[in-house]
Amino acid sequence: MKKAILFTTILFSICIGANQTLNAQTSKVTTTLSKEEQKVMDYIDANMPSAIALLKESVDINSGTLNIEGVKKVGAIFAREFEKANFKTKWVPMPDSLRRAGHLVASIGFNNEVEKAATKPSSSKKKNEIAKTKKGKKLFLIGHLDTVFEPDMPANPFTMINDSTATGQGVTDMKGGDVVMIIALQALQAQGLLKDANIIAYLTGDEEHAGYPREVSRGDFIETAKQTEIALAFEGANGLNSVATARRGASGWLLNVKAKTGHSSGVFTPYAGYGAIYEAARIVNEFRVQLSTEKYLTFNPGVFIGGSEMNYDETKATGTAIGKTNIISPAVTVTGDLRFLTEEQKINARKKMQAIVDNSLAGTKATIEFQDGIPSMAPTEGNNKVLEVISGVTQAMGVGPTIAGDPGSRGAGDISYIAAYVDCIDGLGSSGRGAHAPGETINLKELPYLIKRAALTIYRLSR
Ligand SMILES: [Zn+2]
Repeated sequence: MKKAILFTTILFSICIGANQTLNAQTSKVTTTLSKEEQKVMDYIDANMPSAIALLKESVDINSGTLNIEGVKKVGAIFAREFEKANFKTKWVPMPDSLRRAGHLVASIGFNNEVEKAATKPSSSKKKNEIAKTKKGKKLFLIGHLDTVFEPDMPANPFTMINDSTATGQGVTDMKGGDVVMIIALQALQAQGLLKDANIIAYLTGDEEHAGYPREVSRGDFIETAKQTEIALAFEGANGLNSVATARRGASGWLLNVKAKTGHSSGVFTPYAGYGAIYEAARIVNEFRVQLSTEKYLTFNPGVFIGGSEMNYDETKATGTAIGKTNIISPAVTVTGDLRFLTEEQKINARKKMQAIVDNSLAGTKATIEFQDGIPSMAPTEGNNKVLEVISGVTQAMGVGPTIAGDPGSRGAGDISYIAAYVDCIDGLGSSGRGAHAPGETINLKELPYLIKRAALTIYRLSR
């Protein structure tokens, strides 16, 4: 487990300190380009037409999460491209019961040189080589093959809108991000810069709608990530000078209130009590009063059903209610989400909510259940160290330092499942607009820059 840095530190760096903090950060990192790095940049400029062609090829295959054949086809295209960069590829299948395609895994390095050396007496020359290899970090690159667009939705093939914008299903979320990752690796391989690298690229087939149980759909993903030290995820980039060092997690809650029923004329009296609707309203309002101003914490009631007779179907998120104005309601169900930046914040919020629930009005009894969803990617010292390296890269590229984006602006993502085990950065993919909506676009003007940023970041971290 990594230690979350103090909240005040985050606020400090976000609010006042862009320049101050970065000056301190970047003093240790290289802010100039080496000759090799310049060659990588030139390669990327020269190969932008093939990057766009790969983007078009992958976008024009529908890969909605539930379109198993489509997801596999996109996986095969990207596997072919990883192999061009000398990566070994494999497909991780999912059991039929999950109704998901599976995941593409591509890797280079990881030949256990270090372990072999530990058990075998070897020459000092060999030992030096290994020591050199050990300096580089083991990287875990994250992408996804699926999109939110299933085959029964209107098609939107890859189309240029103008010379710097294109549209298409998943064009930026995240086939654009996958292309950033792959072209960056091809550029490094073309310059012979992956010789000592240990990199695993993991492209899930169901990021938009992960299969249940999550222990199965994300089990191999988590175990594989544990073999590495730093995870870089290629979800959408937010400007040229920001990456995500934290993402909020998502969870749910289910509130059930039972109460004495009776004629409405007796409501508020000690013998009849307040009824379930007043009690549920009190609880939800008190959540808002006590917790709504806490930074990065949000909770939203999505369904609120009460009456004389009611039922709620959790699997379909639907319910019905029958009631009369002259009957005190005996039952209410409310469901909502709860988003948080750290486990500690989640646990504290749950404690406060539980205390509010327990403080029942007369004649009522409420219970609340909390359900875990996607963990958060908490801001940590380790994540900030990786940010420093990226900031050095963007300065070397002449676009200035990189800062941590607002964690409140991002939902949960695959990287969150492994944030407890490795240092993490997200937002290294392509830039665009309207993810998850028809007409989603990618910014092709920023694309070469983002591929270069990714390539140099991978290079500097892996050597
Ligand atoms: Zn995505």
